Amino acid sequence: MSSSPIKLGIVGVGKIVRDQHLPALAKDHDYRLVAAASRHGKVEDTPNFPTIEAMLDAVPELEAVSLCMPPQFRYDAARTALAAKKHVFLEKPPGATVSEVEDLKALAAANGVCLFASWHSRYAPAVEAARAFLSSTTIRSAAINWKEDVRRWHPNQEWIWAPGGFGVFDPGINALSIATHVLPPMFISSAELDFPENRAAPIAAHIAFRTSNGLPVTMELDWRQTGPQSWDILADTEAGSMVLSGGGSKLAIDGRVVHEEPEAEYPMLYKRFAEIVRAGTSDVDLAPLQHVADAFMLGKRNVVEAFFD
Ligand code: NAP
Repeated sequence: MSSSPIKLGIVGVGKIVRDQHLPALAKDHDYRLVAAASRHGKVEDTPNFPTIEAMLDAVPELEAVSLCMPPQFRYDAARTALAAKKHVFLEKPPGATVSEVEDLKALAAANGVCLFASWHSRYAPAVEAARAFLSSTTIRSAAINWKEDVRRWHPNQEWIWAPGGFGVFDPGINALSIATHVLPPMFISSAELDFPENRAAPIAAHIAFRTSNGLPVTMELDWRQTGPQSWDILADTEAGSMVLSGGGSKLAIDGRVVHEEPEAEYPMLYKRFAEIVRAGTSDVDLAPLQHVADAFMLGKRNVVEAFFD
């Protein structure tokens, strides 16, 4: 593919499109945003269509699409785009099930186009430094604490509480996208999921992982945290105690900050997408999604107090 800007369409115009995709694309010369498709949302100064099918029909020069609707509704749109030979950027989580994303991988390969399962937290500024530190030492144990206020971050998002919306695993999968990049391969040994009595998705989860060499890793997810929010991964190692905080933005070893810089997660995601489109490859790591599936498969279900917005 040439180095001329990739003609991109965006689908599912909501919070993350306005907060991150549009600002990142506005500064990125690798892309030209040529269309948007959404039932209600609109992108200014761009042709808007009510469905992805209408957009693909009307704008045949489109080369790639970013699919930003909730995960339960992403598969059909992705199939439609891949069958039309468009490169596809999937917001996280890449789908509502592991096997549907496997199917999309095969479809992308069969159609000679690229599929990108984006994991924005993996591109947080201190993640690579944490990975380098952890791979240079021996880890004794690790803990993931991801606790935030659902009322503040997900107001009126009914899909997030519906089956396939993942509940507290919607942010929790961001932690897992970092953990699976910086820690050794691990698997869940036990899990408890707390479901509000009036909701179909968990509000909290308590998970124990272990690595194949027996290293314990715990994960605490909670959506009821008011006040300061916690998006931290801690590790006890032979080279000191590591804290990767702020969702991957700050790294400290034995209390001393060794890496901190402003985040640029979405510009980095689009850089990576352009790279794979130009190289003609796909980038679909399903490890974070598999852990979420395993937690639902293995987890004991506790019923807790009803939750109201
Ligand atoms: P959102 O605003 O609730 O949804 C995005 C858009 O998807 C909606 O505005 C809606 O647009 C469309 N949509 C909703 N239900 C749909 C349905 N049944 N069928 C087709 N389209 C539907 O959610 P969001 O916060 O942007 O999150 C979208 C995705 O981005 C999620 O997977 C989330 O995990 C991920 N994400 C979110 C954040 C964040 O901070 N919010 C951060 C990173 C990643 P129309 O009504 O116009 O069709």
